[in-house]
Amino acid sequence: MSTAKDHTAVSLLRALHFAADKHRDQRRKGAEASPYVNHLIEVTEILAREGSVADLTTLQAAILHDTLEDTQTAAEELEALFGTEVCAVVAEVTDDKRLPKTERKRLQIVHAPHLSLRAKLVKMADKISNVRSIIEAPPAEWSLQRRQEYLDWSDQVMAGCRGNNLALDRLYDATVTEGRRVLGHPAQ
Ligand code: ZN
Repeated sequence: MSTAKDHTAVSLLRALHFAADKHRDQRRKGAEASPYVNHLIEVTEILAREGSVADLTTLQAAILHDTLEDTQTAAEELEALFGTEVCAVVAEVTDDKRLPKTERKRLQIVHAPHLSLRAKLVKMADKISNVRSIIEAPPAEWSLQRRQEYLDWSDQVMAGCRGNNLALDRLYDATVTEGRRVLGHPAQ
């Protein structure tokens, strides 16, 4: 029967199993402290369902997108298990953790326009998921101003990614618009 489809399902589940294992002791920073894997599923679901992205490499990279940055995973490990292309996309969306946080955030804005199409798609879905979290269940210690500033920064990263998937552009815009309605704008 449909072996191509079976292959897709198995490949995605293999990535999910790997990511769930690597992130098993992590929780999201938000007030709900949901298991980290929920975020990975959400990002991948946004791509597949809202963005109609069917490219297996992109979807696997979405599931694995935080492994290099946030877990004990070596690039060689990803390459051996999921191939060079998946590993390359994950590497593209990985911040250099040796740099201070403000510099990493600045570099995300600078690098976004130069990312591959796959990396831009993953980044957009990641930003949609993160903005949702900031609106709905922010970390307890985050002030209103910090949340508002997060939306402004996210917009700047998104500016370098948009124009590649209309549904994701629109979903992002709707999410941020709702965020600003809820949170208001930063005081000038
Ligand atoms: Zn993420």
